[in-house]
Amino acid sequence: MEENRRPLIAGNWKMFKTCSEAVETATQLVKTVADVTVADVMIAPPFTALFPVSEVIKNSNVVLAAQNLFWENEGAYTGEISAGMILSAGCTAVIIGHSERRQFFGESDESVNKKIKAAIKAKLIPIFCVGETEKERESKDTFSVLDKQMKKGLQDFSSDDLETLVIAYEPVWAIGTGKTATSGQAQEVHRFLREECMEKKFGNKLAKSVRILYGGSVKPGNIGELMFMPDIDGALVGGASLDAETFGKIVHYK
Ligand code: PEP
Repeated sequence: MEENRRPLIAGNWKMFKTCSEAVETATQLVKTVADVTVADVMIAPPFTALFPVSEVIKNSNVVLAAQNLFWENEGAYTGEISAGMILSAGCTAVIIGHSERRQFFGESDESVNKKIKAAIKAKLIPIFCVGETEKERESKDTFSVLDKQMKKGLQDFSSDDLETLVIAYEPVWAIGTGKTATSGQAQEVHRFLREECMEKKFGNKLAKSVRILYGGSVKPGNIGELMFMPDIDGALVGGASLDAETFGKIVHYK
């Protein structure tokens, strides 16, 4: 990664951990990463654990994200959670458009766009996930798929709106499968996202400052070589973030 961008290591706990389990892991993590000053450390517990975990991390260097939101402020939307609710639970960021949401919950590029708008309006950092499936990679459609996800997801925004945006490149074939993109494969896509998607549409300044995370079976053993790549600014970690000690090793990648 380049010196001017601050690394971000984020843990996505998905649908794991009860409130007490989440509090226990967060308590351990706060101790494990207390010495880290050179990177941002973030965790995204399930909705039910956000508030109790926010109490645990209050005076620490760990920050909190939600895994999803709904774009309306409030209303008759049973089962949904708004940006304001997430903020009031102590979050500063929200993951949007994770491939599991696209795959299992009908998330589309259009709904992702609305959610990013709602996050930005509420001053939450959007962590915007993009990625191709195995089939799309095999048929050499990776770049066209990503280009479409980027264009539609970031439709109607100006570069000023996107100052806090974080992009997460998560090849679907590498999520939870143990298959990691090689650092070279990931770098090739990160460069494409920065130079072809962000720079062409939003200009050089935002393209140079936007943080692009890699996600897909990141572990203590592969984080070092991924972070060595010039356009990889951090990681979105699923399975390996559930254990404080393992996640702590990833955070201490240097
Ligand atoms: C994720 O959930 O965003 C993810 C990348 O999962 P895993 O690290 O388990 O592949």
